[in-house]
Amino acid sequence: MNTTTAVLFVSASEADRKVLDTLLCGGEADAAIRVVAASTAQAFYEALYSEQSYQVVVVDASLPWSDWQSAVAACTRGRSDALLALLIDPEHPERQAAALAAGVPVVYPRNSAGLIALTSLISSMTTRERSFSLRRETLSNVAASAGEGPEEPEEREKLVYAVSHDLQDPLQLARRYADILNDDFEQQLGDSGANVLGHLQFNLSRTQEMLDELLDYSRLESVPAERAPVDLNELLDEVNSIYKLTLDEVGGTISCQQPLPTLVVDRRQFQRLFQNLIGNAIKFRSDSPLQITIRSQRVRNEWRIGVKDNGVGIAEEDARRIFDMFERVGADEDQPGTGMGLAICKRIVQNHGGKIWVRSAPGAGSVFIFSVPQSEKPVGTSGE
Ligand code: ADP
Repeated sequence: MNTTTAVLFVSASEADRKVLDTLLCGGEADAAIRVVAASTAQAFYEALYSEQSYQVVVVDASLPWSDWQSAVAACTRGRSDALLALLIDPEHPERQAAALAAGVPVVYPRNSAGLIALTSLISSMTTRERSFSLRRETLSNVAASAGEGPEEPEEREKLVYAVSHDLQDPLQLARRYADILNDDFEQQLGDSGANVLGHLQFNLSRTQEMLDELLDYSRLESVPAERAPVDLNELLDEVNSIYKLTLDEVGGTISCQQPLPTLVVDRRQFQRLFQNLIGNAIKFRSDSPLQITIRSQRVRNEWRIGVKDNGVGIAEEDARRIFDMFERVGADEDQPGTGMGLAICKRIVQNHGGKIWVRSAPGAGSVFIFSVPQSEKPVGTSGE
């Protein structure tokens, strides 16, 4: 499925092309929108009659080689299926009425406000088109799974996916506008303007992180777990190496009480699970030297794994809600994290048929325990 929107930008202004390119594609080669510039008469006519399809043609009315009426007429003949937009010189507002009368559906002034309005229009077209294809994909998945295979996902799951997916475009656009303000309007903003912009950029990045985590969370539901035997000792070594520098810095240690078992689980999901739990133990450490201990125990037909720390601990009334989406307790605004880490852990454990819970008290550290049902005792484990 091709979801790229191609925009033909007919203008001799290299500066305007750059602005449009930055606003629409953010300089990314694989962005969902692609801007092709035609800055000479030859490039314009070649693009107009090429095989390449364009969903939008933007014509700058102040072309050095043609009057706007002829350029618009050529576009209507050559690209009748594309949305035509005209950028007119703001010093000639009367051209707007003339252009609309000539059947040009979109007319904007050729200044920053016009370019931003044009960008919003093109981006919203792209978002709409993508959400239509998303809906088509969802419907065909449901049709394919009817009667056999995985059950139809809950409506809520679809909503979470659609929301987190479709908000990406407008959010990225907002971040780009903020970057442009930062890069090109620094002088005009002054100190207090720059301060407000700093808060805006911080909150936009945070929203981006939350959306990314939400998307990851919903993918955990839609993509089935790929189970294979995983030696948890090796997996833990990998996670340890990720945190080695931080642990050295804070003077913390991670140890295992006994060798961990080999379990039939999704390796990537379990890596994420350990990463989130160990990352939290580091983040919510107390003033005492950090000690993280991993324990495992076989109880009837399941394994229980515990990640214990000597950190700040959690009050009883908060112990349940911390596993819900976006729930954070006592974490201050500047501290990294979105409140999705434990919700993701819970979903991973549930994907494997298990449960996760915490035993903790303020000031007494915490132990996060999760269970993993395993019908047979895998080879090379520490026993009951
Ligand atoms: P985040 O870490 O992004 O805040 P999480 O979902 O991972 O989000 O955790 C939710 C909340 O649970 C945290 O804000 C914190 O209050 C609490 N928490 C998680 N792990 C620990 C821990 N090891 N010790 C104390 N509190 C914890």
